[in-house]
Amino acid sequence: MSIETEVKTMSAAVWTGPDTIKYRTVPLPEVPEGWALVRSELTGICGTDFSILHGSHPRAEAPVVMGHEITGIVDIAAPEGPAAGTRVIVEPLIHCGNCHPCRQGDTHVCRSLKLYGIDIAGSLAEYVALPAETLIPISSAVPLLEAALAEPLAVAVHAVSRSGLRGGERVVVFGAGPIGILTALVARHEGAGSVLISEPSEDRRKVAEELGFETVASGADPIEAILEATGGDGADIVFDSAAHPSVAAVLPKAVRVLGTIVLVGVYKKPVEVDLQALTFSENTVVGVRVYTRADVERAVRLIEGGDLGLGRIPVEVFPLEETLAAFTKAMTAGAVLKVFVGPATAAELGKEEA
Ligand SMILES: [Zn+2]
Ligand SMILES: [Zn+2]
Repeated sequence: MSIETEVKTMSAAVWTGPDTIKYRTVPLPEVPEGWALVRSELTGICGTDFSILHGSHPRAEAPVVMGHEITGIVDIAAPEGPAAGTRVIVEPLIHCGNCHPCRQGDTHVCRSLKLYGIDIAGSLAEYVALPAETLIPISSAVPLLEAALAEPLAVAVHAVSRSGLRGGERVVVFGAGPIGILTALVARHEGAGSVLISEPSEDRRKVAEELGFETVASGADPIEAILEATGGDGADIVFDSAAHPSVAAVLPKAVRVLGTIVLVGVYKKPVEVDLQALTFSENTVVGVRVYTRADVERAVRLIEGGDLGLGRIPVEVFPLEETLAAFTKAMTAGAVLKVFVGPATAAELGKEEA
């Protein structure tokens, strides 16, 4: 039996096929028992959404409402979940519960992992229905735009936890997109001795510099810069959040002997890597897939603690009816680091109407 609602329809940005998003009135999502109805406030747009939009995501099937970086207010509560009116962020993972990783408790690497907003309707709509256990309350004292970074921040928290960082390490981050910047912020917060960012876009380098990070200068060779910054050794920990073949080619040169490479970004195709170099240097290479529940909860605590300076990240918010424009903006990878889609109003965000 599902819960009856008074309002039966809502507005949604529906992905209907390659490079097409239609702003439509659709039925309100069904709310099965044990689920809650959440009123969407802000939805972050990320690279995974780009691949869905272009029709190149391996699982997404049109029509679907995207949006897996979800912040909202509980509208109809589930008996076992946060009360109506609670601001929540969402751990959007759906695991099978039966495969080997799931049985080991490693549900984030479930062999048939799915996500709300990719495989099932997400939050690029006025409302989204979600199981109670996916909802994580976040203090409403936190600026909404910072709360809305919880999901990508959880990826960064997971990446840093996978890196084995203990404090004092010389860290290099390839790529100053949202995940690269968030990873750099978490690494610094967790005590990295230094963080150097390599990023080809001048706009994005500026974002990194304004957040207090060293960057590889325009036109400089990243490896020369890394070696210079590390006394010729290479970095203790290298985060690859660029996932570009040109980065894969230089990873073994960027990391020191016995150092660690963390693959944060997702390579779309196999790339050439000098495995002999990694062998001779006894490097550790670790993958990163999304995050654990503990990472998401840690991300929420970091946001609530206010120590990362997330409010200084340049962001832009688009109304739901301009979702396609939001994607276009996000894909330009310019001076705006992160793009969100409303329905949150400017007043709710504590900003002047532009
Ligand atoms: Zn995402
Ligand atoms: Zn599983």
